[in-house]
Amino acid sequence: MFEEELERRFGHKLGTLKVVGGRRAFPLGLTLARDFIAPRFALAGDAAHGIHPISGQGLNLGFKDVAALAETIVDADRLGLDIGSLAVLERYQSWRRFDTFRMGVTTDVLNRLFSNDVTPVRALHDFGLGIVDRMPSVKSFFIRQASGLGGQSEPKMLGGQPI
Ligand SMILES: Cc1cc2nc3c(=O)[nH]c(=O)nc-3n(C[C@H](O)[C@H](O)[C@H](O)COP(=O)(O)OP(=O)(O)OC[C@H]3O[C@@H](n4cnc5c(N)ncnc54)[C@H](O)[C@@H]3O)c2cc1C
Repeated sequence: MFEEELERRFGHKLGTLKVVGGRRAFPLGLTLARDFIAPRFALAGDAAHGIHPISGQGLNLGFKDVAALAETIVDADRLGLDIGSLAVLERYQSWRRFDTFRMGVTTDVLNRLFSNDVTPVRALHDFGLGIVDRMPSVKSFFIRQASGLGGQSEPKMLGGQPI
């Protein structure tokens, strides 16, 4: 039954599908690691943060993490610092924590708002979307945010610059 439903949705590109283990559910929601770093250790991507895919930003956040971590390490190495030390990795953590938190919370609020069918909440988001649609500068702000280009201090590699 489950296999038939999967095949119906995926098509037969992969041939006949067979479930070999138990089924599990992974709720989509917000998870943020309390610390992104420890001595000689750094979390990046979904290991550091899981956000709802409503805004399609999870992968972008991960790319920014990797670019920021690489830049942090290269800069520290040029200065002859210990690249795995907490003092060095702290720059990476403070660089990425606010952006991640901001995007995670924004996404979470949007998800709660748009998955809510209570009439006043629905009216509120329809009203909000109508206003945004009539204000080009606000609309372009949201488009920049959604493209992952809204951060204050982007790592160089995201702009195609060498580090
Ligand atoms: C339904 C859905 C839609 C999404 N849509 C978008 C979108 O439109 N745009 C966007 O930017 N993001 C989107 N995302 C988010 C995006 O998929 C993730 O943010 C991104 O894949 C995270 O990349 P990652 O490399 O950090 O982690 P992952 O892609 O999870 O990679 C981790 C890898 O590590 C492997 N692994 C785990 N444990 C071990 C172990 N012990 N040993 C060895 N390997 C291990 C896993 O098998 C996996 O291959 C979506 C997510 C979901 C669930």
